[in-house]
Formats: sequence, structure tokens, C-alpha cells
Amino acid sequence: MDLSKISGLGFVGLGAMGLPMAGHLAAKLPEHIQVYVFDINQASVDQVHKDHPKRVVKCSSAREVADKSEIILTMLPEGKHVRSVYIEGGSTTILSSDVAGKLLIDCSTIDTASSLAVKDYINEKFPTASFYDAPVSGGVVGAQKGTIAFFLGCDGEDPNLSNITDLLKLMGKDVIPCGGPSKGLAAKLSNNYLSGTIAIAVSEAMDMGMRSGLDPRVLAKVYNAGTAQNTISDRFCPVPGVWPEAPSSKGYTNGFKVQLMHKDYSLAMDMAKRVGAKNVLGEAGLATYKGAMNDPKCYDLDSRVVFRYLGGNEDWQKDADEATASKLN
Ligand code: NAD
Repeated sequence: MDLSKISGLGFVGLGAMGLPMAGHLAAKLPEHIQVYVFDINQASVDQVHKDHPKRVVKCSSAREVADKSEIILTMLPEGKHVRSVYIEGGSTTILSSDVAGKLLIDCSTIDTASSLAVKDYINEKFPTASFYDAPVSGGVVGAQKGTIAFFLGCDGEDPNLSNITDLLKLMGKDVIPCGGPSKGLAAKLSNNYLSGTIAIAVSEAMDMGMRSGLDPRVLAKVYNAGTAQNTISDRFCPVPGVWPEAPSSKGYTNGFKVQLMHKDYSLAMDMAKRVGAKNVLGEAGLATYKGAMNDPKCYDLDSRVVFRYLGGNEDWQKDADEATASKLN
């Protein structure tokens, strides 16, 4: 669907990710397009309207958003919320509206079964409508900066790909077509399984190195120059004070919350079981994120807080300074 030909775009789910994403659309879409928004949290609706009073129109339900928009985006927490907003919520759902010919894109990270259930429902009731899964990576800061990546559940030949890419690039940097329905989600879950597992491995490796007397900055350099190089030990180092911009160096704030990592890791494990993949690290990884999520010292913090959960020394710099001072005295 060509952006120059639409007059209304809808956004449902204005949370930590959705609010800045909707804000980018309100700021960057062609001027003739109104942005219709809804969230059960009225404060978020009021916020995006306050930020873009001329462009954003407040709605009182997901259905009203769908009634008024040719393109509808959703950014919701879990599969049950997506099913409820599209199908199961009675007369106020998106699909209680006539969405024939419309484009619907769900950016939530959810189970593939819920996404396919929504797609099947749309295919049956509104065969001329198109629905895509397009989960994102890059976190809240990426959503604010407009640098997130979209993993799109469509193939490279899809006639809508070019228009969807133009639209999503108003909110992010990369749009990767992953091959077909629900494959964006499968890619995202696979990615987060890998990233979450690496974070645990980096935390363990750092901890054993530091307990053996190594400076974590030296360890990070070694991994970077050696065969262990990875983004987590570089830019997202779980040890505070190694990479100044990492969430760990800011009290594990402004990152990807440990309970969200647990959710995605758990969804990835379910997917692995369903497709018959063997994950020898998965059970241990899931138990680690569950433990960290339920630990008051870690709850609500960036998922790389597993370093703290596993007993890593966050005060290494202070300890090193004290050791140097006592040698000099
Ligand atoms: P969030 O909890 O901050 O926001 C979700 C929003 O959905 C809330 O504002 C909530 O009120 C709204 N909502 C819930 N039920 C609703 C309903 N029935 N109708 C209308 N609105 C409803 O979550 P988030 O951090 O924005 O994450 C959204 C999705 O993006 C999740 O699937 C998450 O896994 C994924 N994600 C999050 C991050 C991150 O760093 N936060 C990064 C990548 C992907």
C-alpha cells in the first residue's frame, strides 16, 4: 500500500517501544496522513497526542483505530494481548472492523502460533487484507533513536515489501524479509536465544577470568582479538565499567529487561521443542533468566544483570584501586 495514497495510519500499543515508534511516524509521515492511536493506558495516548497535537488523533478502542486507518500497526506485550486486540476482545477489536484491503502489521514479540492464528482469521474473513509479523530488535533506546531492526515475516518477492520497507524505515534502520508468515518471529526468537545465551556465557567467562586475577578490560580486549569476539562482550559487556555506554555501566538501566529476555527465551525454547531442535544449553539458560527475574536485586534491570545474579564482582575497579593503594603504603 502506497503511503501517498492513504489518509490514516493506526497504532495500537503505546508502551516503552510503541510510544517512540508512533512518535517517529507522527513526525515523519507525509503531512496529509493522520495517525490514529489507542492504548488501554490513557496516559500514553495523551502523551503522544501532546507531542504531536496536529497529527495524532486519540481513539477510544482498537476498532476505532482500524475503522479510520488504511494501515494498522500493533506493538503489544504477549500473544494473549495480540489475540485479544485482533480477535477475542468482542466488539472493540481490530477485526470487528471491516479491514478488507487494509495492511496490518504486528511488531510484538509473541509466539508464532498466536501470530498465525491472527493471520488465518484475516485470510478467512478478509481475503483482500494483508497481515505481517514484524518483531523488532534494538531496545527502547533504539526505538527512541529510530535505529531498530525489523524482522519481517514475508519473502523477498512479496508485492507489499517495498511499501512496508518504506514505512518501517521511518521507525528503524534495517528491514529484513525473513521468508514468509511468522518467520520474522522465528528469526527474532532465534536471535534472542543466541544473544541471551551469549550473555550468560560472557558473564561466566568474565567471572572466572576476574577471579583468576585478570582485569575485565583486558579480558574484553582478549575476546575481541580472539575467537570469542561478540557484541555482548564488546558493546553490551555485562561487567560494569568495561564499556561506558553499556547498560551495566549505568546500573543495568536503559536496556532489555530481564523479564522480557525470560519471555523471549521461553518462547524460543517452545519453538525449538515444537520444531524438534535439540538445545543442550536452553534449559540452563531458561532457569538462569527465571532465577534472575525473580531476584529482587535483578528484577526490572537489563538482562545482562545475569553477571550480578551469577555472583560476579561489580566493584572490581574499587577493589583494584584499594589493592594498588595498599601496595603503595
Ligand atoms: P510495554 O509493556 O511497555 O508496552 C505494551 C503496551 O501495550 C502498554 O502500553 C499496554 O498498555 C498496551 N496494551 C496492553 N494490552 C492492550 C490492549 N488490550 N489494548 C491496547 N493496548 C494494550 O512493552 P514494550 O516494552 O513496548 O514491548 C512491546 C513488545 O515489543 C513486546 O512483545 C516486547 O517483547 C517487544 N520488544 C521490547 C523491547 C524492549 O526493549 N522493551 C525490545 C524489542 C522488542
